[in-house]
Amino acid sequence: MIRGEFIPPAPARDPTVYKTMESLPTVILKPGEADRIVAGHPWVYHGAILRLTAQAGDGEMVQVKDHRQRLIGTGFYNSRSKINVRVLAPERVEVDAAFFEQCIRTALTLRQRHLPGATSFRVVNAESDFLSGLIVDKYEDVLAIQISALGMEKRKDRIVAALQKIFSPRAIIERSDVASRQFEGMTEANGVIAGEFSGRLTVNLNGLGFETNLLGGHKTGMYLDQQTNYQAVSEFAKGAQVLDCFSFLGGFGLHAARAGAAQVHLLDQSAEAVKAALRNAGANGLQRQITAEAVNVFDWLKANTTTKPHEKLLPKFNLIILDPPSFTRNRASVPDALRGYKEIHVRALKLLQPGGVLATFCCSHHVNSQLFQDTILSAAYDTRKVLRRVATYWQSLDHPIIPMIPETEYLKGFAFELVR
Ligand code: SAH
Repeated sequence: MIRGEFIPPAPARDPTVYKTMESLPTVILKPGEADRIVAGHPWVYHGAILRLTAQAGDGEMVQVKDHRQRLIGTGFYNSRSKINVRVLAPERVEVDAAFFEQCIRTALTLRQRHLPGATSFRVVNAESDFLSGLIVDKYEDVLAIQISALGMEKRKDRIVAALQKIFSPRAIIERSDVASRQFEGMTEANGVIAGEFSGRLTVNLNGLGFETNLLGGHKTGMYLDQQTNYQAVSEFAKGAQVLDCFSFLGGFGLHAARAGAAQVHLLDQSAEAVKAALRNAGANGLQRQITAEAVNVFDWLKANTTTKPHEKLLPKFNLIILDPPSFTRNRASVPDALRGYKEIHVRALKLLQPGGVLATFCCSHHVNSQLFQDTILSAAYDTRKVLRRVATYWQSLDHPIIPMIPETEYLKGFAFELVR
């Protein structure tokens, strides 16, 4: 103690809080397992646990201590999951509506700072916001939540109460139709849980309207993680012939058209997505510039790059966007995925005019940025092309990256100019 330092008396503790806190079952970690938790990673795997001091209920709160009995966090326990504890805070917390309100307000402040003016964005991105197992997306005046941890599921009423208080939304829908819920011992759930809502909504992204089906669309309705990139990639579109591969609702294509593209062609295998994208083009007054086809991109690229002997392929495009779904489910499928990524890059490069731009994305956590770029360079080598990298992209800032939690970093992209 520093001489003369004033130490305030400890505040009197509320005896009820004291009791509930002290009676939390304790999960004691094996030696060496505490560091990553202390560093901010919220997952305690089964194999990291030395013992429990008392039986813990699935979905209930536990405290986590290192092998020397020092408290390192509190969080949700679930014996059924591979992730036995999802740590919520480094200290003891009461997980009530006020807790959720405070965490969600903190997350919201971050979005208001990084995406000023945006009306649709991800409010809570699970681990990225230290709320493992909870996603909250804001689509204009409607909220969509996705719960993938039993501890969150058991406190859904408190989460909904906090959201009502902060946002007063027209409706809250649940999009917990994710297979990962089975690993936590839960079934899938989808529907309106508060207010009244048909599912259809026009979402405003960067001033363009996108008709969206929030009860049935991909993810919780849209790929909000590309919001910033739509705008950034459109900077290469002026006067360009554009090909938007894996276009879904036309996010990249419509932004390119608004930025002055001569013509934009959208490709997606979902006929429904293509129809919606064309309606979106019309609703934004961009129909003259936009055409679309419901096809498999692999087949289309193959058909458009296969030449007869002695026939020369004429590259038609000045901007090609590749934003495929993740080709990997796990580490084992990475080699197959890389073959897929390489193939679309080989064919896209053949269709790109010199000086044109290839904007390409990979949303697989298992393929890191270096591996992704290596795959693109390998495609360039095979086609004898030279590329100049002119931009790097990652997920929009409403999907925060916490480097201590590698799983929070998944979307990466590049823009390459074709030198020759
Ligand atoms: N660029 C979009 C997101 C793309 S998600 C956006 O920003 O909103 C991937 C899309 O690829 C989905 O719409 C899916 O229907 C489509 N898709 C998946 N495999 C495909 C394939 N082999 N050919 C064409 N489209 C495919």
